[in-house]
Amino acid sequence: MITKTRIWLSSPHMGGTEERYVKEAFDTNWIAPLGPNVTFFEKSLEEYVGGDVHVAALSAGTAAIHLALQILGVSHGDEVICQSMTFSASANPITYLGATPVFIDSERKTWNLSPELVERAILNGISKGKKPRAIVAVHLYGMPYQIAEIAEISQKYAIPVIEDSAEALGSTYHEKKCGQFGDIGILSFNGNKIITTSGGGALLSKDPEIKEKAVFLATQARDNAPHYQHSAVGYNYRMSNVLAGIGRGQMEVIDDRVMARRANYNFYKERLAGFDQISFLDEPAGFFSNRWLTCILTDAYETREQLRLALAKEDIESRPLWKPMHLQPVFENSPSFTDGTAEDLFNRGLCLPSGSNLLEEDLERTISVIKKVLDQ
Ligand SMILES: *Cc1c(COP(=O)(O)O)cnc(C)c1O
Repeated sequence: MITKTRIWLSSPHMGGTEERYVKEAFDTNWIAPLGPNVTFFEKSLEEYVGGDVHVAALSAGTAAIHLALQILGVSHGDEVICQSMTFSASANPITYLGATPVFIDSERKTWNLSPELVERAILNGISKGKKPRAIVAVHLYGMPYQIAEIAEISQKYAIPVIEDSAEALGSTYHEKKCGQFGDIGILSFNGNKIITTSGGGALLSKDPEIKEKAVFLATQARDNAPHYQHSAVGYNYRMSNVLAGIGRGQMEVIDDRVMARRANYNFYKERLAGFDQISFLDEPAGFFSNRWLTCILTDAYETREQLRLALAKEDIESRPLWKPMHLQPVFENSPSFTDGTAEDLFNRGLCLPSGSNLLEEDLERTISVIKKVLDQ
């Protein structure tokens, strides 16, 4: 009897050398939140992303956003502009600091921040005497946001940008890698991301002092003294040298991972070309997505659900697009500037199995279930 294995949305994909670097950590007894693997991992990220960024490896992408907000001066009572259509980790750290997220709807070209609505929210804030302190912009599913437009608004109103590149390592905008565009960028190496350290993240900035501040805050804000001396409240957010060994190995295969994810997208797009109930998010000129997850847009909520349930029945994992933050119970009291775009995308969108380790037969199995539903 042939038993079918479960097909995952996005599962870890080791390259082969990770265990060697982890073993090195054991052999040299660097079992600590610092050490050679952390340094090597940071260096390889700096070289890969380019743009003279300085990288601090941290325990999670969420921790990186928390530190980024604090370093940019966000504090109690402030308002922070945040993309609504995203994972909750983009917004949660705003509340850790006692600030309020102001959620902004998406535009249809990239599914990310609508520049018009961002500007409207800023003007509204200014008119209340409360200019937003920062903008959290996200490259959703690996598709860069409208970087030039958001940067222009950021400069016009002198509001810094946190570039949430958690899903976009390997994506580029006019040939430059994502992660270098914001005043501070962040990455995630959670188990489902394009490369993983099982759990982990990073903070990036062209300003070396920002990296220094991040490392200082991430290691309990220790002053320079022989004893433990503190003039600020710190965190325990640094990346473990054991996990950084996994990241070091993963960086050797990052280009293959991007190619494999993009190949998944192209496969789905070609094989579903004849179905006008289904559409895809194309790359605008100058935009290059790592296609972390392949997302389809169906003609109606009902089609989305039929597909999701039919796939689940065959033990194939798929998932609706991120539910917008302005529709989440936990954020029901947060202000928002919306036009219905993110809600519509959420209702009709579905993420398909997208791992770089999917086999041809996995993709074939997935597409045959989808086609069966659409042919009805
Ligand atoms: C995964 C993710 C994060 C958070 O990263 P963690 O490493 O899981 O804390 C933040 N923002 C977005 C958009 C993400 O997808």
